[in-house]
Amino acid sequence: MKYKLIPLLLTLSVALCLSLSLAACDETPAEEKGADGHTHIAETFNVNEEQHWKTCTVCGEKFSAENHSYLADNACETCGYSSVYTKGLTYLLDKVTGTYTVQSIGDARDVSELIIPAYYEGKAVASIGSEGFDGRTSLESVVIPAGVTSIGSRAFYGCANLSSVTVKGASKLASIGNYAFSHCGSLRKISLPAGVTSIGENAFEYTSLTEIGFGGTVAKWQALQKGDGWDNETGNYTVTCSDGKVAKDGTVTMN
Ligand SMILES: [Zn+2]
Ligand SMILES: [Zn+2]
Repeated sequence: MKYKLIPLLLTLSVALCLSLSLAACDETPAEEKGADGHTHIAETFNVNEEQHWKTCTVCGEKFSAENHSYLADNACETCGYSSVYTKGLTYLLDKVTGTYTVQSIGDARDVSELIIPAYYEGKAVASIGSEGFDGRTSLESVVIPAGVTSIGSRAFYGCANLSSVTVKGASKLASIGNYAFSHCGSLRKISLPAGVTSIGENAFEYTSLTEIGFGGTVAKWQALQKGDGWDNETGNYTVTCSDGKVAKDGTVTMN
């Protein structure tokens, strides 16, 4: 009987070694995995005042919880949470993605400096709704958090005194809706992140744009989808890309 145990033990120890080395090859930390071994999936963070964490869209488990660590601008370097933002705006929850759209000015109607929060009630603010702030002539500046991926149509239409639009940090902004900044006559410059893939029809018409910053290359700017009339009646702008400049008439000057 004893002799029969030896090969069994050998087999077991080989199997154990194999599984250990396989585990070592998989670089996903154990805390980012569910009980059945799946890697948790989450696009955005959830937050409270002390911490950020992710909630798995597959199993609902919380993972990667950490305390915020604040940078000089009072925003967490990992999740972008900040307690400094404009209070009183209204929001709509997308139950599928678990993110919010900021919908309107709400109780902040006379504000001149609009700071859209990165999170509302613990969930990421991922878009700016259509007509959210149209016709708000009190607005002079707006700060858009990094997690916003889309700006809705006519979102800032006719904000005649809006001169400063700041898109924060590692922005995920991809689409700018039709007429989004149309008739923002005071808008002279804007910086757009490299991830922008579409600018809607008439999006910047009747602005005073002379300077557009673009985080991507000239080739990327040229490939970007631009709707009809997106730059009607703007200033004579230059787009400064990472490797060169593009004039309003399309002339390219490489660095
Ligand atoms: Zn999971
Ligand atoms: Zn954080």
